[in-house]
Amino acid sequence: MLKLEENVSLKKYNSFGIEVFTQNFFLLTETSQLKELYSQYQNRPIRIHGGGSNMLLTHDYEGLTLVIGTKGISVLREDEQSVFVEVQAGENWHEFVLWCLKQNYGGVENLALIPGSVGAAPIQNIGAYGVELKSVFHCCEVFDLDTQDFKTFTKETMHFGYRDSVFKNKYKGKYIITSVCLKLQKTPHSLQLSYGDIQKKLEEKTPTIQHVAETVISIRQSKLPDPKEIGNSGSFFKNPILEKKHIDTLLQKYPELPHYPTPSGAVKVPAAWLIEKMGFKGVRDGDAGVHSKQALVLVNYNRATGNEILALAQKIQKAALEQFKITLETEVNIL
Ligand SMILES: Cc1cc2nc3c(=O)[nH]c(=O)nc-3n(C[C@H](O)[C@H](O)[C@H](O)COP(=O)(O)OP(=O)(O)OC[C@H]3O[C@@H](n4cnc5c(N)ncnc54)[C@H](O)[C@@H]3O)c2cc1C
Repeated sequence: MLKLEENVSLKKYNSFGIEVFTQNFFLLTETSQLKELYSQYQNRPIRIHGGGSNMLLTHDYEGLTLVIGTKGISVLREDEQSVFVEVQAGENWHEFVLWCLKQNYGGVENLALIPGSVGAAPIQNIGAYGVELKSVFHCCEVFDLDTQDFKTFTKETMHFGYRDSVFKNKYKGKYIITSVCLKLQKTPHSLQLSYGDIQKKLEEKTPTIQHVAETVISIRQSKLPDPKEIGNSGSFFKNPILEKKHIDTLLQKYPELPHYPTPSGAVKVPAAWLIEKMGFKGVRDGDAGVHSKQALVLVNYNRATGNEILALAQKIQKAALEQFKITLETEVNIL
C-alpha cells in the first residue's frame, strides 16, 4: 500500500508560488508504482505535476496530486552521427541540457534554462531561440490511464505544432509521459544561431554548443524574471497566428506591428507587442501584475491568488479582442 500525504500545500510545487492545497499528494519515484497507485486510488481524480512551471492553480484540489519525480538518463544506442538517449520524466529539463553539453551531444543547447521536467517537455513542444523539442524528439513512453498499460508514442503520432501536441488536445489528461527518448547529434553539430540576439552576442568565430547555451542562458537571465525571486510561468499567452487579411487590416492602423510569416501562409504576431501597445506592461492589480521588462509574463509579486492573476489575464484578453480583434490564447494551463 503506497502512503499518500494529506492536505498538502502546493506553493513550492508551482512556479507562480500560489498557495493552494491538495487533498492527497504523492511523489512518484519509480514508474512501477503507477499501477499500484491507480488501483489504490481507483475512480478518484488524479492530477499530474512536473515542475509546475506551466500552470496557474486557481483553487484547492479535491483529489490526488501526483508529482513525477522519476530520475535516470541512459544511452540506448549510438552510431557515428547520433545518439539515442532515454530520460525519465522527472528529470529536470535544464539539468538534462547541462548533461548533454558535458557529453558534447548537440540539439538542445538553444533550449537551455527552460524550467520544468523532461516529461512535460513534449506536451507543449517546448521551444526557444529557433528550436523546438520536436527537432530532437524520437519517442516517449506513456502510462495509459484507462487501461493502465504502457505504450509508445513516436514522433509521427505526437502531431507537434507551435506549443502544441496531441497531449494538449485529443489525449489531454489521458496519459502520463513516463520517459522521453531523444535523438541527439554527435560532432559536427549543426547550430541554430539565426534567432533573436544569439548571433549578435556570440563572440566566438567558431561557436560550439556550449557557447550557444551560455549565450542563451545569459540572454534569458537578462530578460526573464527568475521564478525563485518573483512567481511566474514564463509566457502567459501564445503568440497569435493571423490570417493574411486580418494582418493587412491591422497594418493599416499599426504599420509598426512586427509580424512574421509562417510556412502555412498565416502570420505570427508577438503577443508581447500587443500587450505593451494596450498599455498593460508593468501594470499591477494588487499582487498580480504584468512584468515591467517582459509584457508576455504575468507575475505574482507575493500573495496573489490564482484567480487574481486569471482576472488580469482575462482583462488583457478582453482588451486584445476589442482593440485588435485578436483572441489571445493562454500558453499556461489554468487549473
Ligand atoms: C521563467 C519561465 C520561462 C519559460 N520559458 C519557456 C520557453 O522558453 N519555452 C517554452 O516552451 N516554455 C517555457 N516555459 C514554460 C515551461 O517551462 C514549460 O512548459 C515546461 O515544459 C513545463 O514543465 P513542467 O514540468 O513544469 O510542467 P507542469 O507545469 O508541471 O505541467 C504542465 C502540464 O503538463 C502536464 N504534465 C506534466 N508532466 C506530465 C507528464 N509527465 N505526463 C503527462 N502530463 C504531464 C500537467 O498536468 C500540466 O497540464 C517557461 C516557464 C517559466 C516559469
